Amino acid sequence: MRVMEIEIKNILTSWESSLVRYGKIDSWNYSENLTTLGRYLRSNESTLEEHYLIKYIRDSIIGVNFNVKSVLKAIQKLMNLEAVKEKELTSMLVKMDGNRVVLNGQDVRFKKETEKIFKEKLKFKKGMLLRNFDIETEAPHDSKKVRRIVEKRMCQAYHRMHKKDEGYKTSNREKYWMDRATAFQLYNIGQKEKARNTRRGESTHWKWKKDPITHELVLKKKMGYKNEEAAQKAIAQWQINHPYDSREITAYKCNYCNKWHIGHRSKFLNHPSIDSMIPQMQACC
Ligand SMILES: [Zn+2]
Repeated sequence: MRVMEIEIKNILTSWESSLVRYGKIDSWNYSENLTTLGRYLRSNESTLEEHYLIKYIRDSIIGVNFNVKSVLKAIQKLMNLEAVKEKELTSMLVKMDGNRVVLNGQDVRFKKETEKIFKEKLKFKKGMLLRNFDIETEAPHDSKKVRRIVEKRMCQAYHRMHKKDEGYKTSNREKYWMDRATAFQLYNIGQKEKARNTRRGESTHWKWKKDPITHELVLKKKMGYKNEEAAQKAIAQWQINHPYDSREITAYKCNYCNKWHIGHRSKFLNHPSIDSMIPQMQACC
């Protein structure tokens, strides 16, 4: 059982949102995306059903007038197939090896906590949703409070998950994983919602992402690095993880939070025809 390449998934996700929002395919990276799908189809890495669906989507999109509804349906069907596969694979991995921490991604392990935290409201911020709180830019005093709330939730979750494990106690090792879990959630939060008509703009503090709970496209804060060196390291790592992505990535200092971010150099200026579209819909970096 293979999981679909992240690159393919990103293309399908971005086409899905573009079809939902505009009823057409975003011309951003259009030909590269078609090439990538073609390569994937030739590689025989998919099941017959997936192959059929991807081929249908690609062939439709190449045509001038395609049926938006049925292409959308095909994309959503593929995504559902993929979600089931991932779920099965995750539970399989856990069974195969008793090592509870390393094998499962944080996003899978703490999915429930993410859901809870995402619904939580902050009383001291007039009921603001916790998920909209950006610890990079809010007042330090408030950021500290939010940090403490998240830490508490994640420690409780970690404890709940592992208290029945043999020899479980709150040792340094446990503390390390709790800190990791907290950092993960603090990275998760900080997004602007109902941002549909907003331009992300050139090199900013945000990127487009699908909210895991509402499935809305939101502007989510990018990972912040403390200096240029750290950002360059992140670029090197990103390139290792995305060998097929030849787009140029740069590091830049953010005027909004004063930290460093990385991102694809926008090709927006070279594509005046997509002026009505949002330049970078793929959730990148
Ligand atoms: Zn920033």
